[in-house]
Amino acid sequence: MIQFNKPHETGDELRYITEAIAAAHLSGDGRFTRLAQEWLERETRAARALLTHSCTAALEMSALLAGVGVGDEIIMPSYTFVSTANAFVLRGAKPVFVDIRPDTLNLDERQVADAIGPRTRAIVAVHYAGVACEMDALSDLARKHGVLLIEDAAQALGSTYRNAPLGTIGDFGALSFHETKNVISGEGGALLVRDDGNFLERAEIIREKGTNRTNFLRGRVDKYRWVDLGSSYLPSEIVAAFLWAQLQHADELLKRRLAIWAGYHERFGALAAAGVVQRPTIPAHVTHNAHMYYLLLQTAHERESVLSTLRELGVHALFHYVPLHSAPAGLRYGRVHGGALPLTDDLSARLIRLPMHYDLGPAELDAVAAAVGAAVGKRVAA
Ligand SMILES: *Cc1c(COP(=O)(O)O)cnc(C)c1O
Repeated sequence: MIQFNKPHETGDELRYITEAIAAAHLSGDGRFTRLAQEWLERETRAARALLTHSCTAALEMSALLAGVGVGDEIIMPSYTFVSTANAFVLRGAKPVFVDIRPDTLNLDERQVADAIGPRTRAIVAVHYAGVACEMDALSDLARKHGVLLIEDAAQALGSTYRNAPLGTIGDFGALSFHETKNVISGEGGALLVRDDGNFLERAEIIREKGTNRTNFLRGRVDKYRWVDLGSSYLPSEIVAAFLWAQLQHADELLKRRLAIWAGYHERFGALAAAGVVQRPTIPAHVTHNAHMYYLLLQTAHERESVLSTLRELGVHALFHYVPLHSAPAGLRYGRVHGGALPLTDDLSARLIRLPMHYDLGPAELDAVAAAVGAAVGKRVAA
């Protein structure tokens, strides 16, 4: 069986974890947290990177920083992971779901202006498959309407939009190091803060249970106290040590992953030219991190048969998000802009994700491509 995902070890994880234990600092904000944060700040050029225990936590911090509450509306795609919406619904705000673009499957920026109303407080751009949303248009809209722009960059570490690292273009960016992402720590994430204005100090306070402990540790205040709303969003040093081992190999992981992605892309060229499948589109002004390789099939019905045939042939492929607006909690907590999301409904029902991890070599890519060919051929012949 060719697995869909395989958590990757760089080899240094246990050594760093042992060092963290030897240093007798296992709670958060020790040496490894600092190393990982400095690495992220250097690589992304964000004013500040704060490690969190998940991207979900970083999104919840964004909702707290945005100060959203009951009656506020947040514009986002429906074709995303539940955490994008939950973070804001937990504060009492309402997701307003806007349709996606047919090429990148990202939030359709051309439909966002129409969805902005007096209650809109933020736009959340989700960079699907690590491919950037149209950030110039979204930034202009956010500025013009005085709303925040937040990036769910869970899948996007290492990707850029017009040379700007994803997660650093909006006011805040949320990264994930979940074991299914490119660089991992089991569970893990980070919040990137674009400028070090007043958001930065509040972000530190929110992450440290609503206390000014971070400034206390810097020696800037003589005691630490409860000063604002907050929770516990920082990871332990054991998690940060694992992450540090991964970050040090991030360049090599990115190269390896791009090669696998390109290998798939080339192998599906003929099927795409014949109109049997549609391959991912990468706009010219972005670079991506090969987080995912997906194909769009011709019908939802075909997808079910292709997925089961692939399983029979030893290839573990998957569908992806059930659009939030059609899920029970989405119906309860959200609202659909314009009454319907035809592209979200259509594209989400036709998409399959192929195995993507660092152990895939040419032989595995050949096997996956042959299995997909057989699976779609089978349907065509039926
Ligand atoms: C993975 C993912 C998340 C959640 O990340 P966690 O680190 O598991 O909390 C959120 N949004 C998107 C788009 C994701 O892909």
